[in-house]
This record gives sequence, C-alpha cells and structure tokens, in this order.
Amino acid sequence: MIELAATVERTRFVDPAGQPVEQVIEHRTDPFTGTVASINAALGEKARAFLGSTDPALLRELEERSRAGCPFCAAAEKATRFDPALVPEGQLRVGRSIAFPNLFSKASLDAVVVLDPGAHALFPSRLAADALGTALAAAAELGRRARARDPALVHHVAGMNFLAPGGSSVPHPHLQVQVRSAPYSGVARLLRAGRDAAARLGANAWEALLAQERGGPRAVGASGPVQWLAAWAPAHQKELWGLLPGKSSLVELDPAEAAAFGAGLAKAVAFYEEQGQHAFTLAFLSAPEPDPRHTLQVRLCARPAFRASYANYDTWFAPLLAGDDAHTEAPEAYAARLRARWGGP
Ligand SMILES: [Zn+2]
Repeated sequence: MIELAATVERTRFVDPAGQPVEQVIEHRTDPFTGTVASINAALGEKARAFLGSTDPALLRELEERSRAGCPFCAAAEKATRFDPALVPEGQLRVGRSIAFPNLFSKASLDAVVVLDPGAHALFPSRLAADALGTALAAAAELGRRARARDPALVHHVAGMNFLAPGGSSVPHPHLQVQVRSAPYSGVARLLRAGRDAAARLGANAWEALLAQERGGPRAVGASGPVQWLAAWAPAHQKELWGLLPGKSSLVELDPAEAAAFGAGLAKAVAFYEEQGQHAFTLAFLSAPEPDPRHTLQVRLCARPAFRASYANYDTWFAPLLAGDDAHTEAPEAYAARLRARWGGP
C-alpha cells in the first residue's frame, strides 16, 4: 500500500464587507518525494480570472511573426550537425522529427529535437501525436548512441518547454535531450525513493501506485501501454504523470512505446489549452540503467498562461525556494475533466 497522506486545517478571517470567512486548506504529501501540495479550492471559478488565461490573438500574432526567420522551420538546411563519430548522418531523423546539437550545450550531448520542421504551430492542440512520438524516439536513440560511444554517458533527461512562460526561447515546438556523466539530482532522489519504497513493499512501488489508483478519481486513462493519472500531491500546476510499466529507462524505449507516450501527451496538452493555459513544461524521469524498481515516467504541468505581462505565479517563493506549491483546484477535479474528454487508447 502506498500511503497517500494529508492533513486539513482551517483559516478564519473577516472579509472587506465585514463578514466572517472560513476556508479549508488540505496539505497533501507526495509518497515518494515528501513534497507538500496545499489545496484551497475557495477561489473556484474565480481562479482563472485571478491567474489569467491565454490571449489567443497575441499567440496567433506570435505564431505569424516568429515564422519568418524561424531557425527550426529551416533546421534541415541551417541547423548544427553532430560529430560524425556520434551521428554519421549529421542530423538524426525519425519520421518528420529532426535532431541536431544545441548551440549552447549544457552536457556532453545536448540536442534539440524539432517535432516537425514543417509545423510551426504554437497552439498545443495542434501538436501532432505522431510527431511527439517520433521526437521522443529520436531522443531515446541519441541516448543509446551516446552511451555506445562513451560508457560514462548514462545519465539523461528529455523534456520540453512550450512557449515563453513554459521556459522556451524558440517557439517552434521541440524537445530537448541531454546526456551526461553526472546524475541529475532530482532523478537520483526519485530513484532512491523508488528503491526505498520497493524494499518496503517487496515490489515495484510505481506499479503498486498504478494498481491502487486504477479506476479511482485521479486515474485519467491509457494510451497503449502508458497509464496516465493526476498526481496525488502535485508539485506543479495541473500536474499529470504518464507511466510505462515494465520499462524504467528511455534507452529501452521502442518506437511503439514512444508513439504511445506521444498519443497521451497530445491529449494532455490539448487539455491545458482548453483550460486557457497553453504554456507547459514536461520531462521524462528515466533510470540511467534498466532498473526493475523504477518505472519510466513523464511528468507535465501547465505553466502561466501566454499573455502580455503574465505573472510567474508558479515560481513564487514557496515552490522556488521552499519546495512546495499551492493549488486552487484538487487533482481529482482536473482529472475528472480530462478523463471525460480522453477517449479510447
Ligand atoms: Zn518554425
């Protein structure tokens, strides 16, 4: 049993009209990391107005303005090339996706994977599931090639920033993959937590969590073999997890599994758009070597809505420096809306 712990407390104050107000705050603890999510749904529907929603006209304008001179539309002709010892073909192509070295490397292998150079689309609902899948397949292949060339290059992360509030500098949709010899501290902490939980349970704790959550209020659906759910104690806004039982590392991923992740991600990010947020960030948390105590997983979250002078409300001092965020909606509420529009696998 994975313990999903929470405490509830109340606050009382007097509103500007002189009326007494009581609000309930639930503090939930993540069973693996120990991070605390504080949920106060009192803002309810007012939350959207309070936090702001995307300005679609501004986003359409950016889409048009950034198309001319976009370096990723012209990636095949103008982008960097890999060292021939790593990628003899210069750029790695899988389907319409194309990978090439990042101009500003943060690791021994630091690559950009453009989902589709022909699709300069800045609305999440127009990200193609198959292009998300082939970009991920390219990232996995780069992970395999890096370790084949240098056995020290086992630590890796693949992720995506979408739009400026999501951490992206070039708007054309792209993944990034980094491979290095030093562990990623957050991945290492998660792997340790998974190993500790597996030792207590005598089984893979992520699969135990999936079994426990199946059919429950945070379960969203499946895309092929990938299971999707809302996190019990989200560390980030509208956080969703996609887990692939039986695989622990991106370097084990086959093309069908990459396509399954792509299919689920396409649905999840279209849901963020429907919620008026558009910007998102995601990362695959992957074991450096196959490990039966870890389950390969992608985590994604909505970021501040794309609009002029947006507030970085998800990087206020508590999440940024003290480690814990607050939420205006329980995960069960957004999971229910996403489940309703999920469709079949
Ligand atoms: Zn472009």
